Amino acid sequence: MNVNLSTADLRQKDAAHHFHPFTDHKTLGLDERRVMVRADGVWMWDSDGNRIMDGMAGLWCVNVGHGRQEIIEAVRSQMSELSYYNTFFKTTTLPAIELAEMLAEITPPQFKMSFFGGSGSDGNDTVVRMVRTYWQMLGKPEKKIILSRVNAYHGSTVAAAALGGMAGMHAQGGVIGDIDHASQPFWFGEGQDMTPEEFGLQAARSLEAKIDELGEENIAAFIAEPIQGAGGVIVPPDSYWPEIKRILDERDILFISDEVICGFGRTGSWFGCQTYGTEPDMMTMAKGLSSGYLPIGAVSISDKIADVFHTVGGEFFHGYTYSGHPACCAAAIANLKIMQREKLVERCASDIGPYLQEHWKKLGEHPLVGEAVMVGLMGAIELVPDKSEPKKRFEPGGEVGNIARDHSFKNGLVMRAVRDRLIICPPLTLTHAEADELAAMATKSLDDTLDDLKKQGRI
Ligand SMILES: *Cc1c(COP(=O)(O)O)cnc(C)c1O
Repeated sequence: MNVNLSTADLRQKDAAHHFHPFTDHKTLGLDERRVMVRADGVWMWDSDGNRIMDGMAGLWCVNVGHGRQEIIEAVRSQMSELSYYNTFFKTTTLPAIELAEMLAEITPPQFKMSFFGGSGSDGNDTVVRMVRTYWQMLGKPEKKIILSRVNAYHGSTVAAAALGGMAGMHAQGGVIGDIDHASQPFWFGEGQDMTPEEFGLQAARSLEAKIDELGEENIAAFIAEPIQGAGGVIVPPDSYWPEIKRILDERDILFISDEVICGFGRTGSWFGCQTYGTEPDMMTMAKGLSSGYLPIGAVSISDKIADVFHTVGGEFFHGYTYSGHPACCAAAIANLKIMQREKLVERCASDIGPYLQEHWKKLGEHPLVGEAVMVGLMGAIELVPDKSEPKKRFEPGGEVGNIARDHSFKNGLVMRAVRDRLIICPPLTLTHAEADELAAMATKSLDDTLDDLKKQGRI
């Protein structure tokens, strides 16, 4: 593209022709459009030359940081050797073989096989078809309901949005059937007078109640993110996952861990299910699988599921043109090699994770902050109108979060606002000095927001 175009020209063209995702198209103004042009490590530059820290690792995905030549070179070299071939019809490619083998090594021991797709959303579509087909193969076609949770995010295709628990998404374009939702373990928002432990048990037992209501004999699977990401980095109380595990262990229901965000080191383990000690039958992955260098997703299936497909037989009528795309697999392989060599998972668990968490705890003391949580390198702060009233939230929600998010951007740090929670999810390569800078920018953004609210007489 012509690099001599001014930012104003670029914004004009973008507004004229580019229909953005997850956007209110009436209110997206010209001047709000930021044109990102370059990135290196945790830093990005826009078309006006502003340097901004990528506190969200793109969209929760750039775990190894931007601009890694090793990945770029691996893709270039694969593209010149074999830029594309499919994996239908008894064919495979070298990168698809190598990546599937790497995933078998990295994932928990029950996983030896992976199916490839292009994203987290299509991965969860694959999950829907796979679990229902699994039960059909076992002669139990009535087991087709998939349980999820309110405020879960599992992607944006129709099936993935139906699995998710976002009411706004359900309202636009409808949902598919035989999907239902239990409560979410969001103590700050819904825990009322309960302790976190009590509330965690209650939220878990809403799954048990749902199963009893609908009948275990009709339920195929339960899907959940270890920590809800897009829902607001909802870190469950310690009592939650052990109770879910008890409920699932007592029943013949598959468990799917949606590891699209929590996978690949984000929570300090390779996978979020390891951080919480659950034992999934399937895992959906995307985002950190390639650190976003190229689009790729995967669904890993446990031996229990693979064995049924291998012994019962019959074609599984499912696949994508780009399943196992060689260049995307090459990007993922190079990305995972960096993670292994630089020990980024271990670094998140015992070095930069705890280091940023210390800063985060201090943000919790700010007068605007009601809760500050962080696991590994994913965290949130909940902005509140009055710290002295436990768990009181802004009503209506969302406005203050957006003010703070805009200040943060202006101060050089990308954070995301989910209602009035500010979310952070930086690359796992963040240095200590960068973490110090991140915390300083976040603090200034909270101060600026507090000033605004005081000026408006709202606080
Ligand atoms: C982002 C996300 C998805 C969807 O992935 P896409 O690549 O955007 O389709 C699914 N599940 C979770 C938990 C996610 O965060």
